[in-house]
Amino acid sequence: MFIQNIKATHFRNLEALELEFSRDFNIIYGDNAQGKSNLLECLFFLAYLKGFRSAKLAELRHYDQPVCSIEAKLSAGKAQYELRLVLEENRRRIFVDNSPVLRLGDYLGIMRLSLFEPKDVSLLQNSPATRRNALDRMLFNHRPLLLQDLDQYQKVLRAKASSLRAEQLDHKLLDVYDEQLEHFAQRIIYARIQYLFAINALLSNCFKTLFDESYDLQLEYISSSIRQKLDFREDSLSIDMVWAEYLSNMRRVRNNERMRRSSLAGPQRDDWSIQINAKSAKLYASQGQQRAIMLSLKMAELFYLKQSQGISPILLLDDVSSELDPERNRRLFEFLAEISSQVFLTTTSLRYFNFPKAVQKYEVINGEIQRKD
Ligand code: ATP
Ligand code: MG
Repeated sequence: MFIQNIKATHFRNLEALELEFSRDFNIIYGDNAQGKSNLLECLFFLAYLKGFRSAKLAELRHYDQPVCSIEAKLSAGKAQYELRLVLEENRRRIFVDNSPVLRLGDYLGIMRLSLFEPKDVSLLQNSPATRRNALDRMLFNHRPLLLQDLDQYQKVLRAKASSLRAEQLDHKLLDVYDEQLEHFAQRIIYARIQYLFAINALLSNCFKTLFDESYDLQLEYISSSIRQKLDFREDSLSIDMVWAEYLSNMRRVRNNERMRRSSLAGPQRDDWSIQINAKSAKLYASQGQQRAIMLSLKMAELFYLKQSQGISPILLLDDVSSELDPERNRRLFEFLAEISSQVFLTTTSLRYFNFPKAVQKYEVINGEIQRKD
């Protein structure tokens, strides 16, 4: 999957952009605050309909301009799509092949894209909510429709919360909410656990190949409703048993929730973590190891998508590789060439890199981007 070209006006400081991209490596370079990350965010916006640095749509539009528009030609296997997004005030309009898209579900998932940014390096130290989002984002690439389940789950959860705050509890209504929550929770938890199980061995392999042979990594799912942490060392996973335990615990928690008037457990409180040689990576891995672990997780995500669905998602690397030494840098690029993703990488200096094959370079100066041949 790759973006052939893009045309954008007034996306943040990128006033008028018109570029053809390479289907392999695109290197975006320039000094600080010129617009490199803005270009990546513009691509991210095309895939996810939101930015990765701000929650508000209006911040993506140039602050002096009423309208921002982005057009891109996407090649996905044999299919081609003309994508167009228009941002006006707080409104977003979406077009595919010149027809307006009315349901988000019809759009999300067309473009599979994965982002690695400096913030991701500290994911293990971050809040459970940030980690859950990161996991759900990986999952979303794998199974775009899960987003709807997550949205529905949140909607029912909010309705339940307000019902729990009412003066008089309506037990019948709460039962209905709990039943609906169970339905969506099952889909979310199955998806998360099966996904972690599937990438567990890949994560370790990526770490060994890219960084250090002598370490084993293990993923864990930490559930608010299952007593034991789930690790994925076994050859097979009995997900139905996990779900049965989940259900019986959830049903026990319900009376408590009605007494305390708040939701106490469920996928909205779950977390995940990584062990390195059987020790918590969050507590024991060095800064450099944590960076390597998170980059390996990203590679495992890409590798799995390619292996299971034959999809090579577009990869955005914002300002990360400059911290790798030349040998690891070389291995990373070899790996990326193998999964044949279209890569967009930003850097303040080309000197940091040893590119293994022809790359297309772009220089960014004050919101203007020039292709360098
Ligand atoms: P660095 O190397 O420091 O990461 P960068 O090239 O990635 O820099 P960007 O994050 O892309 O820089 O930001 C470039 C500029 O865009 C910044 O000066 C920022 O103030 C400006 N900018 C951000 N949002 C908007 C907006 N909505 N309208 C106009 N300019 C904006
Ligand atoms: Mg930047």
